Formats: sequence, structure tokens, C-alpha cells
Amino acid sequence: MYDIDAASPLLLNVCIVFMGTLVLEFLLPVVKSRVVKDIFVDMTLVIELLLCMSFPFTEFNGFTFDLRAVPLIIAALYGNNRTCVTMSAVFLVYRFMIGGSGALPAVVLGLALVAVACFLRKSYKHRSRMTKIGLASLPMFLALAALHVVLIDEHILAKKTFPTLLMFDVVNVIVLWATLLAIEYVIENFKLREEVYRAEKYQVLGELAASIAHEIRNPMTTSRGFLQLAMQSNRVEREYLQTAVSELDRAHQIINDYLSFARPNFETNVLVEIEEQVRHAAEILMPYSHLNNVSVNVQLTSGLQVHGDPKKITQMFVNMMKNAIEAMPEGGELTVQSEKVKRWVQVHIKDTGVGMKEEELKRIGNPFYSNKANGTGLGLMTTYRICQAIGGKIEVTSAPNLGTEFTISIPLAQVEARKAAEEGNEVP
Ligand code: ADP
Ligand code: MG
Repeated sequence: MYDIDAASPLLLNVCIVFMGTLVLEFLLPVVKSRVVKDIFVDMTLVIELLLCMSFPFTEFNGFTFDLRAVPLIIAALYGNNRTCVTMSAVFLVYRFMIGGSGALPAVVLGLALVAVACFLRKSYKHRSRMTKIGLASLPMFLALAALHVVLIDEHILAKKTFPTLLMFDVVNVIVLWATLLAIEYVIENFKLREEVYRAEKYQVLGELAASIAHEIRNPMTTSRGFLQLAMQSNRVEREYLQTAVSELDRAHQIINDYLSFARPNFETNVLVEIEEQVRHAAEILMPYSHLNNVSVNVQLTSGLQVHGDPKKITQMFVNMMKNAIEAMPEGGELTVQSEKVKRWVQVHIKDTGVGMKEEELKRIGNPFYSNKANGTGLGLMTTYRICQAIGGKIEVTSAPNLGTEFTISIPLAQVEARKAAEEGNEVP
């Protein structure tokens, strides 16, 4: 029977591989920079490989048995050429350091496994989940088969060692499949989240379109009136033309704001001026607030910078200010203020609208929670996600019939934070 004592290193190996996958699952969505992300993936896989090899689950005559094949295959299929080279080099050096008579065949087998998996990478990418599992199993099966030939040759595969080696094969294959499924699930989840961002943005754009069309009609009508006057007068009245031109410019600006919001997002992480983004959001919503009889009062502190994606930050403010406007069906006042509080920039979005009860406050931000006839209930969810991604937090205070105040706190970018520290502000 399979020796129960051997079970704990076996479990340790399984845990090491799953821990690696888990670390990537939690940390990858948080890391924004592509370069950092790549380094991070490489490092996790290298550590996973080293740990697997350091704690093998059994050893026979200089041959060590562990789950190294799983991180090697994952690196070859999901990483790039650099990941493969790094992993192969680390594996080669470390396996020779461990030594034993099995070192040379192990290195040859390991490198052949990486080479086969690398070769499969191109055809792997756009396959269905089942095909991917099949393709990824190919190098594993080949390596295991070759290993068994070597083991027979070395007289290691015997009646006594057979159960342990069979367990080694089975665990390798099962852990590979489970890891692949987990990785595919993480990738799918990530894509879905991006899809929701986009869907919500287009929903908002659709809802704003009517108010923008309405708003553009005003300057158009005015310009038309002045152009007509200019046409009727005998001498060309410069002033009439001037007014017509500036009204057309205004319409142009409204369309520009709208289109700049509509443009698709490309993931970026740059220094973002909060004042600029809030102002941009206010401009996009200007027609909507006019239509709803809401006066917008903006008081912003300049020079406060954070790290993030400017388009997503604008989307975050648009979502919240749009909600505030919608909370005031009879009109009212929307106040947006920004200030520096210690190492944070705080933006307050305050309305004089319908407010929310305690139970309602608990539910906001949950997907599909909406009290509006044609609401999606995704606005605040995306807002919370965007805020979380830039290390911020959101607090809400609200009273029914009095209004609501959302306070968004975002960590200031390093430059600002240093200045704040020099001014004697301690960490909150
Ligand atoms: P939607 O706007 O599509 O309903 P959101 O996620 O943006 O979805 O908002 C969810 C719900 O939270 C809204 O339906 C509304 O009931 C409530 N809400 C959000 N912001 C405010 C606010 N400023 N005042 C009152 N209620 C609000
Ligand atoms: Mg909304």
C-alpha cells in the first residue's frame, strides 16, 4: 500500500502549487504596470518551482519526485519566452545543486518538457477550456512516460516503488488540471469585470445622450438667430457673428466632452490631477444637470495628484455625480469639493436629494441593486471597484429627504505625499 508517511510532503507540494496560483489570483488585478506584472508572474513561478524541488515527496536512488512539472508547464504556456528561459535556467542550476544520479536525466526531461510546452503555446491561446487541458497534458504525459522508461532502465520502477510512483503520476496530472482550471477561471473573471465596466459606461452614455442633444439645440438656435439677423442687416454686424461663433464653439465643446468620455479605455497608470478629472466629469454632466434643474457648485483644490487611469477616475466621478443629480427629481444643488487631508485627497459629492435609509445604504454598491425604473445597479459597483484599484475608499452619509454625501479618499501620489510629510502631516 502507499506509505501514509509520504502523504505529508505530497500535500505540501500540492499546497505550494495552489498557493502560487492563489497569490497570482489576488495580486494580479491589483498590479497595474505591465512590466511589474510580468516580473511578478516570473518570480511567483520561480519560487513555486524552487519550493517544489526543495520539498520533494519522495526520493529513490538519487531521483527526486515532486510537482516541478506543473509550474514549468504553466510558465511555458502562459508566460513569454523570457519566463521560459528564466524557469529553465533556475531549474537547471537548482537540479544540479541538489545532485544525485538522477540529476542529468531529470534536467534533460525537464528542459524537453518546457520545450514541448513552449512549442504548443501558439496553438494553445484561443482554444476551449477542454482543449487547453488536453494540450497542456501532452507535455506532462510525454515527460511521465519518458521518466518511467528511465526508471525502468535504472531498476527503480519495481514492485515496492510502484504504488508511490503511480501516486506521483496521478497527483501530477490532477494538480496540473486543477491549476489550469483555476487560472482559466481567474482570467475569465478578470475579462468579465472589464466587460461590466464597459457595459456600464455605454449605459451612462446612452442616458446622457438625450440631455446632450437637448443642450446642443440651444447654442444652435441662438447661432441661427444671430446669423439670420446678420443676414437681414445691410452691413454685416460683427457682434452678431461673434455671438454665433461662440455659441457654435460651446456646442462643439459639449460634443467633445461627450466623445472624450465615450472613447474606449486602455489600461494606463499615470499621474492624474484630481481637479481636472472632477471638472471633466462636471462638464460631461452639465447638460444632464440643466435638464434636471440641478445647479452644480464645484470648489476644487488644485495640484492634488493621484496615480491611476484618468478615464476610469472620470468614470467614477461621472457615476457618482449622475446618481446625485438623479436623486433630485425636483431639482436641487450638487456640491463637489476637493481637499487635501493628510496624505489623501478627499472629494465630497453632496446632494440635496431624496437620501437613503439605513437599509438602502447597506445595499448600495451591490451588483444590480437599483431603485430606478431603468437603472442598471452597476454604477456604484464599478465606482467602488475603480476606487479600490487606486487604493482609495468611499464613505457615505445620508438622511432620507435631506440628501446624501459621498466622500471619496484617494492616496496622494508619492510626490504629493512627500510634500505633505514635509509639512508635518502624519499618516492617517
Ligand atoms: P443605478 O443608478 O443604475 O440605479 P447605482 O449603482 O449607480 O445604480 O446606484 C444604486 C442605487 O443607489 C440607486 O438606484 C439609488 O437608489 C441609490 N443611490 C445612489 N446614489 C444615491 C444618491 N446620491 N442619493 C440617493 N440614492 C442614491
Ligand atoms: Mg447610477
